[in-house]
Amino acid sequence: MKKRATYYAFSGANTALTKVTTPIPTLHDGEILVNISYTTLCGSDLHTYCGLRNEPCPTILGHEIVGTIAEISAKHSGLDVQGNKLQVGDLITWTVFASDPNSANYQPDTPQKNDRLYKYGHRKITEQDELHGGLATHIILRPHTCIRLLPKTISLRVAATINCAVATSAGAIRLAGTIAGKNVHVAGIGLLGLVTIAMCKELGASNIIASDVNPARLEMAKHFGASHTIDLSERENCALLEASPIDRFIDMSGSPDAMELGIETLGLHGRAILVGAVFHQRPTKIDAEQVIRKMLCIKGLHNYNYTDFSFAVDFIINNWQKYPFESLVEREFPLDEVNAAIDYALTHKPIRAGLYMDSSTAKR
Ligand SMILES: [Zn+2]
Repeated sequence: MKKRATYYAFSGANTALTKVTTPIPTLHDGEILVNISYTTLCGSDLHTYCGLRNEPCPTILGHEIVGTIAEISAKHSGLDVQGNKLQVGDLITWTVFASDPNSANYQPDTPQKNDRLYKYGHRKITEQDELHGGLATHIILRPHTCIRLLPKTISLRVAATINCAVATSAGAIRLAGTIAGKNVHVAGIGLLGLVTIAMCKELGASNIIASDVNPARLEMAKHFGASHTIDLSERENCALLEASPIDRFIDMSGSPDAMELGIETLGLHGRAILVGAVFHQRPTKIDAEQVIRKMLCIKGLHNYNYTDFSFAVDFIINNWQKYPFESLVEREFPLDEVNAAIDYALTHKPIRAGLYMDSSTAKR
């Protein structure tokens, strides 16, 4: 008898996910079947659940995933991106997308913007195309997915966040340019903000200023390397930003108020990297004269490229115990309690809620 997989389907905003079991199909050339070990609920999963983002339905949400190899198809190279041999049972992480380099608009620096993109956790379930999201026991990795082998000792709850939040933070750091010796301001202290702060700390930033409207989040930022914190709910608290020139501003908040303040307080040759504003809101106002006179550079980032992904994997392998990353998954649930996990995440707004696929992977 064919082995079966279980997933939870999302069919529309604010509607409980429904359990589906399905036979695991025979792999096509270049595919890898993964037993999912752990998935964390990303903010964008919750936005989709609430109807703030639209995805083709029904779909399998969840794209921050880690798992072990169950089967490798014959025509797969059998290697990860670094040339390490992949074997059944190996723990792996992978890019949130599979990007076909043969498509006409493929750009090596931005593979995530390819027309022919297969994005995990964002696809419609069809008879020919399922097992592509994280709220499931299994996922099939398609050809052109960038894979990295992970040490078996790594925390699964931390490793799950590599392929969305950590890799996106790595992209922001790349675009920001030199961090060593710079004054950096990071706005929006969710997982992206905390990871970015820890990366800036490791890269030798002079001062790292964390800003948010939530004092508890600002307290967390100190444990990830922030040297100063600013509660943005009180304008007078922002004097610190005016006191010394800010060289790098990285926005993970998506708040027009925070972005305006961050860009306004950049010094000469300052760089602003905008990452958080991936939902509809009022336009952000920018003073062009100041951009010109201070010769500012303002860049946007959506997702990440292969360089960012590898930087993220190395960063987590080297630092997951140095900063309290594990504590950021504030509560975890078995897969069969996914609806309770979503309710918890929406009500309590933890940095992350986690889902484990079998009890042996819980608390690891
Ligand atoms: Zn995400």
